[in-house]
Amino acid sequence: MAYSYEAPVSQSLFDRASLVTPGGVNSPVRAFRAVGGTPRFMVSGTGPYLTDADGREYVDLVCSWGPMILGHAHPEVVAAVQEAVGRGTSFGTPGEGEVALAEEIVARIEPVEQVRLVSSGTEATMSAIRLARGFTGRAKVVKFAGCYHGHVDALLAAAGSGVATFGLPDTPGVTGAQAGDTIVLPYNDLEAVRAAFAAQPGEIACVITEASPGNMGVVPPGDGFNAGLKEICAAEGALYISDEVMTGFRTSKAGWYGIDGVRPDLMTFGKVMGGGFPAAAFGGRADVMAHLAPAGPVYQAGTLSGNPVATAAGLAQLRLLDDAAYAKVDAVSAELRALVSEAFTKEGVAHTVSAASNMFSVFFTDRPVRDYEDAKKQEAFRFTAFFHSMLEQGVYLPPSAFESWFVSTAHDTQAVERVAAALPAAARAASEATA
Ligand SMILES: *Cc1c(COP(=O)(O)O)cnc(C)c1O
Repeated sequence: MAYSYEAPVSQSLFDRASLVTPGGVNSPVRAFRAVGGTPRFMVSGTGPYLTDADGREYVDLVCSWGPMILGHAHPEVVAAVQEAVGRGTSFGTPGEGEVALAEEIVARIEPVEQVRLVSSGTEATMSAIRLARGFTGRAKVVKFAGCYHGHVDALLAAAGSGVATFGLPDTPGVTGAQAGDTIVLPYNDLEAVRAAFAAQPGEIACVITEASPGNMGVVPPGDGFNAGLKEICAAEGALYISDEVMTGFRTSKAGWYGIDGVRPDLMTFGKVMGGGFPAAAFGGRADVMAHLAPAGPVYQAGTLSGNPVATAAGLAQLRLLDDAAYAKVDAVSAELRALVSEAFTKEGVAHTVSAASNMFSVFFTDRPVRDYEDAKKQEAFRFTAFFHSMLEQGVYLPPSAFESWFVSTAHDTQAVERVAAALPAAARAASEATA
């Protein structure tokens, strides 16, 4: 496909990058492989806007895949970071910032009695799985098709996000031994979960699920699904792990837990809690967390865990996220969802705008999407045309039909109006697209 607009500086940076980095990117979802074209190299961000290396400005609907819930370069977060950097960037000792961040998490999310800080969501889920296995003395892990929990070996079976975007069934390099104890089930199917426990009594250590999935597009849990998982796990002596790396501190003050109130045994966090820095966490029941080294025998560690700059950024961001902030993000999301749906309806494009609190995505189908199989049946080729039209008009969307869109408190009327102005032509491009 040829595009009518050009990005010569991004193109030359991408050419340089491709020589020294596989595929020219440091995380596959940043590449434009699913939609074609050259990824934009960004040089700065302010509020709801990003500016690329060619000097073009975009309304950002990716928000770094979730973390930038206050918009880019929020002055109070920047000030907290500058203050922290001035005091030194890493000590390899405990420090007050990590205590304060842990206290903030524990105060916000009632099921989290104790928490351990790490540096990425991947580390959080990897560590939570290890802890669940160590605590229960069992090997097997249940996950759901289309849920992404980072690039943990054992969890890269039928994963969403980049794995979904590129249609990889599994990944080379993950051995049978590493993934052999992973049971992959269809999402939103409690009968399948009951059957798995019945077939393998006493062998399943945990069920891990995205609290509300956002990595196969946004596919919220059906009524009673999370509660059912919790109930089955409790009856079977397995742990219920809720992955809130994406939803945590985004979908409400207490994340998805704040919405459905289903109490997990362990939870994982990342993205928003780092304020744009590498900070993540896992936590939950104190009796389970007590099995973690040095309190207990399950080993887990990190040179930069609880890093003072990252914790300062995360804490500054969380302290600004009060009820008014969430009301703002929810309102912007609702406004954009209505505009998007209106534009597609006008052009006769079959679509479903699927939302979980303020996270949302568009599926190019009018049939309900309850799991990964449903999500894959959408007319994803329409997204490609839609994406490039939006990009050309200065709106930056996730370069995949299988990712959530994200907004921030900084998305003001002007930013929303820019999106609204771009939608009619983009919806027309989607309607005219051919497979
Ligand atoms: C992003 C994400 C992860 C992985 O986090 P990283 O910081 O990219 O390692 C894990 N789980 C979910 C639900 C995510 O959205």
